[in-house]
Order: sequence, then C-alpha cells, then structure tokens
Amino acid sequence: MSKLVQGYEVVIGFETHAQLSTQSKIFSRASVAFGAEPNTQACAVDLALPGTLPVMNVGAVERAIEFGLAINAHIAERSVFGRKNYCYPDLPKGYQISQFEIPVVQGGEVSFFLEEGKESVRKTVRLERAHLEEDAGKSLHEDFIGQSGIDLNRAGTPLLEIVTHPDIRSSDEAVAYAKELHKIVTWIGICDGNMQEGSFRCDANVSVRKPGQPLGTRREIKNLNSFKFMQQAIDYEVRWQIEEIEDGRAIQQATVLFNPDTGETRAMRTKEDAADYRYFPDPDLPPLVIGRDWVERVKSQMAELPRVMAERFVKDYALPEYDATQLTQSKAVAAYFEATAKACGQPKLASNWIMGEVSRRLNASELGIEQSPVSAAQLAVLIGRISDNTISNNAARQVFDGLWNQVGEVDAIIEAKGLKQMNDTGELEKIIDDVLAANPKNVEEFKAGNSKALNGLVGPIMKASKGKANPAQVNALLMKKLG
Ligand code: ADP
Ligand code: MG
Repeated sequence: MSKLVQGYEVVIGFETHAQLSTQSKIFSRASVAFGAEPNTQACAVDLALPGTLPVMNVGAVERAIEFGLAINAHIAERSVFGRKNYCYPDLPKGYQISQFEIPVVQGGEVSFFLEEGKESVRKTVRLERAHLEEDAGKSLHEDFIGQSGIDLNRAGTPLLEIVTHPDIRSSDEAVAYAKELHKIVTWIGICDGNMQEGSFRCDANVSVRKPGQPLGTRREIKNLNSFKFMQQAIDYEVRWQIEEIEDGRAIQQATVLFNPDTGETRAMRTKEDAADYRYFPDPDLPPLVIGRDWVERVKSQMAELPRVMAERFVKDYALPEYDATQLTQSKAVAAYFEATAKACGQPKLASNWIMGEVSRRLNASELGIEQSPVSAAQLAVLIGRISDNTISNNAARQVFDGLWNQVGEVDAIIEAKGLKQMNDTGELEKIIDDVLAANPKNVEEFKAGNSKALNGLVGPIMKASKGKANPAQVNALLMKKLG
C-alpha cells in the first residue's frame, strides 16, 4: 500500500523525451550541435519543403534498439511512422513525425531502490512504450525587445519518447524513477543526459484518487528539466488537486507548466486527445523493419548494463544487492569500486568506504569520482592497513583525510601522525592492568554479571593508549583478565 496524502493516493505516469546522441537529425543530414546561431541548422527536409523526402537516420534506430535491450523490452520487427498534425509557430510544416500505433520499443521495465525509513525497497515501474520522433523548433520570447522569434535549429532533432504506465505513487518515486532512467540512457550512451540543454526532459502526468477508486483525471506537468523542480512541481500539483476536489471542484484534464520562481503549476492549455491530432501513417516513410539479426548485432556490441553489472557484483564480490546497485550508479563509480576491490581483496570494505567516506567527501566538494583526490589504488592500500590491523577504523579516517588533502601516501601519513595501532601485547597489558586497578567498581559490577560495566573500562583503556589500542585485542585481553 502506498503512502496516502490527506487520504488520497497519488498516481503518476511519466513521459520522457531523451534526445538521441546522433550527429545529424532524424530524417536529414543537418547537424544537431547545441548552441548554434538561430536558424542555421534547419534544412529543407526538416521544414518539409515541397520536393523533399525524409530519410531514416540509422544511428537513431540503433539507439532505440539499445534502449529496448537495456530495459528488457520487445523490439518491434515492424513499426510505423505517423504524422501528428497540429499548428504551432515552432512547427511551420504543420505536423510532427512520430510513432503512434506501432512504436519501436514495446513494454519493458525500470527498477530502482527507494529509501523507506531505514529500509531500502525495490520498486519497479512498467514501461508502456518508447517511440522515435522528431523534435519541433523553439519559440524564443525576447522580453527585452518585446518580441518573440522562432529558432528552427531543433526541428528534426531525434528524440526517443519513453512512456510509463501510471505506476508511480509519490514524488519521491517519481524522482527515483527519473534518476534511474537518466542513468540508463547515459550509461548506454544513447543520450548525453544534459538536462539544462533539454537533452533529457520529463513530463509528469499527475492525478489523485481515494484508495480503491478508478484513476482520477490527470494534469500533465510539462518539461521538467531538473530533479529538484520535478519534486517541487509534483508536490505542489498534488496539494492543489486535493484542495480542488475537497472544495467540490472537478479536475479538468490540462497541460500545466511549473514556475520555479513561484513554486506553482499553472494551466497552459486544455489537453488534446489523440483524436485531435488526426494521426495517419506518413506516406513519405516506409515502415521501419528491424530484423532479429540486427537486434543481435546491436546486443553483442553493447557494454555491460548496470543491472547486469550489479548482479555480477553480488555474485563475484558477495555484495548485498543494495551495495551493488549503489556502486553501479555510474560507470565511473563502478570502475573505481572494481579497481579498489581487486587491489585490496576486501570488496565489502571497499564498498563501505566508497558509499560512505568517499561519497560524502565527493558530495561535499561537488566532485565526481573521476576527480577524486584519493585514487582507487590509495584507498586499497588504506583498506589493507585496516584489515591487517596496522590502524584502527578511527585512525583510517584520519589517514583518509590526509590522502584527500594530498599530504602523502598511506604509510607515510600513518608514520607522520603516529597512528599505528598498539600491537605490542606487553605494553597494552600494562595499560589494562592500570585501568583495572583504578576502576575496581566497574570490575566488581562486571563480575556480578553487568556486561555494560565493560564500557566503563574500554573507554579509559582506549584513551590511555591514545586511541592506538586494537579494540578487538583490548576485548580479548579484558575477557582473559576478568574471566
Ligand atoms: P498522452 O499524454 O499522449 O495523451 P497517454 O494517454 O498514453 O498519452 O498517457 C500518457 C501518460 O500519462 C502515461 O505515462 C500514462 O501512464 C499516464 N497516465 C494516464 N492516465 C493517468 C492518470 N489517470 N493519472 C496519472 N497518470 C496517467
Ligand atoms: Mg502526454
């Protein structure tokens, strides 16, 4: 059962436009490079001028196949391009070429972990389809001259529109889904994932209902281009819809925009239905036929997928599923982990350090793991010094700090800061004897069966050793002396 908001269940379905990382447009040879002077990169084909014919970009098809394989979907042997007819200033040709009845990628799923309290729970969102289509141009509203202009450079840019079933149940799930999808498309390299430039933009269809009721009417929040705005927009929209319903007003199906300055969503237009678009198969384009051999060829050339890699981490390194998923957030993190684990032979410790101290420090400095001042090789040496009892975990954090600030190598830092653990039993035994003599009450209580009294002894011992005693050894010696 999903969490309710004021007694309502939240229902969300996502449509994501991922710009495919081809050099040229989906049906023409014009460049898709970002940031060119307006209207310098749209050719006659992109504008559908009379006498031109679109030609399918094979690179775009290949990327769609890769996506389908990555999410375990069916790749249609035959899919069809249609014309979606509408009139808009940024679409002078009057229609957008898209796939409607038969999309190239059908079904599939995206799954990810969600933090729920202390637990992490796996959630799976089913995909309905992913289809190829061309982007439209862009309206530029130049407030400073009080005019609007049209830039058609984006016209004909290849997009993959990825549509989910309405399986998402909260803004947290929505963001987790979007992040996972973003990871997949960038991992397999079909999209650069640049959200500011609009290479990866999400529309969230949001409705609410009382549990057990049929789906409510949805409003579609358009073009969310940051994870932060996504969360804010959905939270606002959910509260707004509940208030409307509670006040006795029905929700109208609509397309809305999120304004980051006010934190509110506002209706842009009432929503068209498919019938309004007068879809029909594009007479200029034959059906897209994809043979099994083509799919197999693409498959054989694809890099290891994140979920496959995660399964391998569980199997080869005996990691919990959660760790494996975290460590396959990006190729760079995965590579860093594998290098560390192989060099130190302690995969679980490597995982703990990378998900803990390393991530914390990287996040705080807003660095990617590629820019980490501590290399995988250095981390492996550090982990080695913990597991051979040269240093304690506490001391290791100080060594890590030194590595981070690049003051030297692991052993030099241990030496310079005097962090070596006390492995000389004689010296340690003397400290323990002194502490026992100074704390007769704790000794008595412990002997009387109060195991907590031990803490009152371990603390002073660690202190007297200046933190250099090995806690396991201290425990063993204490037991021997008190037993
Ligand atoms: P379109 O927006 O192009 O008309 P669809 O009707 O196929 O397309 O739905 C688009 C998205 O809206 C899908 O992700 C779908 O899961 C989601 N959706 C459909 N109905 C609802 C609903 N009642 N509440 C929330 N999301 C919904
Ligand atoms: Mg839609």
